[in-house]
Amino acid sequence: MTSDSKALTHLRSFIAQHRRLLVLTGAGCSAASGIPTYRNDSGEWQRNQPIQHADFINLAASRRRYWARSLAGWPLIDLAQPNAAHWTLAAMEARDQISMLVTQNVDRLHQQAGHQNVVDLHGRLDQVICLACHQVIERDHMQQQLLLLNNITRPIALALAPDGDADVEEQLTRELKVPDCERCGGILKPNVVFFGGAVPKTTVENIFSQLDQADGLLVVGSSLTVFSGFRFCRHAHQKGLPIAAINQGKTRADDLFSVKLEADCVATLAALESTNH
Ligand SMILES: [Zn+2]
Repeated sequence: MTSDSKALTHLRSFIAQHRRLLVLTGAGCSAASGIPTYRNDSGEWQRNQPIQHADFINLAASRRRYWARSLAGWPLIDLAQPNAAHWTLAAMEARDQISMLVTQNVDRLHQQAGHQNVVDLHGRLDQVICLACHQVIERDHMQQQLLLLNNITRPIALALAPDGDADVEEQLTRELKVPDCERCGGILKPNVVFFGGAVPKTTVENIFSQLDQADGLLVVGSSLTVFSGFRFCRHAHQKGLPIAAINQGKTRADDLFSVKLEADCVATLAALESTNH
């Protein structure tokens, strides 16, 4: 037996032994759908740091920069399709093997694959929210407004970055006109949790309570570098709940896992599903 098939056997028995899993997914899950990840296998930043919450809230220049890059990056996120990881996890949920899926991704690909009980831990990129009146609008509508206001017919992304971000000409980041809320004139923000922003407390408490009722935690494609995801591993560990992880590269919680597959999560889940019939 090769080490790959041995690891797969360990994962399969973990899933068989723990019938109600809470699953936590990260960027590794969406990489095969063409959405780049923030960090390499060693957990280091691959690019410049992403926008910080406080900068977006306080600085008009930061918001211009964010929307210029998002204007170019959004169409590619919008077109992204689920891959074998999303399909397999949705199939596992349909077989009652997963009680809740918590994702750190903002691309909604789990939902596109038919997954029902999904918590978007860091929000969703397909929506925009007004910071003043809290009205939520479609990201597609914001795209149309941005294009109209700036008289742009064809934005050109130089390179795609994570979470609908993309490199664009510097001039665009300086000169972009950003629409305000059509209802109250307030500042519009993508409905996501930026770095330095907080996940709502009720969301975190709900996940903790679901975790307490689960038989195990399965981490898929996350280095768990960000505390908002890591805390669920710490909580599971403190409660004596077994944790399995599939991730290419090291994670912040490696010493908490009972099973760790150092492998591509999409290929691993595809192999798991194909041998399940
Ligand atoms: Zn408003």
